[in-house]
Amino acid sequence: MLLEVGDLRRPGACHSGRGNEKEFTGRDSRLEIELRGDLFVFTEVLVEGQATNVGGKIYVKGSIEAKVNLECSRCLTTFTVPIGASFEEIYYAAGSVEEGDPDDTGRIYGGEQIDLRDAIIESLVLVLPMKPVCHPDCQGLCPSCGCNLNTEHCGCGPQAPDPRLAGLGEYLKQLKD
Ligand SMILES: [Zn+2]
Ligand SMILES: [Zn+2]
Repeated sequence: MLLEVGDLRRPGACHSGRGNEKEFTGRDSRLEIELRGDLFVFTEVLVEGQATNVGGKIYVKGSIEAKVNLECSRCLTTFTVPIGASFEEIYYAAGSVEEGDPDDTGRIYGGEQIDLRDAIIESLVLVLPMKPVCHPDCQGLCPSCGCNLNTEHCGCGPQAPDPRLAGLGEYLKQLKD
């Protein structure tokens, strides 16, 4: 998503003393992020915000709305949820700051456009749930047979032995004998 800032940087339009300002709206139909080996797909990404020229730097503030495909941490089905995030960034024109300046917490842009992609992606990553659940009442997968307990009834029952502990059961039996 590219933000045109050429108009913000032109001198002369500044009467308020706060620098030139403009509102912007941007859309992205699809953004993909790979994170810890998982692929997250964001769709219907809408970004609205304000860009302000403050003494050569461009201050950008925005809010993001999107939909994201998540995998339920209990039943492993994929589901789509709306997600929202916000960001604030300072962008410096390339060449206007010393490389490695300790005070520089902003980003660099070249030309008359700022690419907001990195800021958008980093903000979205921060609001991704660590353990997404398709539904608060999701029953998850049966620990014995692996079927999806939301849609299937396997009859294993709640006392079904965990297959990972089957070996231990055998061992305890042997001890008794
Ligand atoms: Zn689920
Ligand atoms: Zn089962």
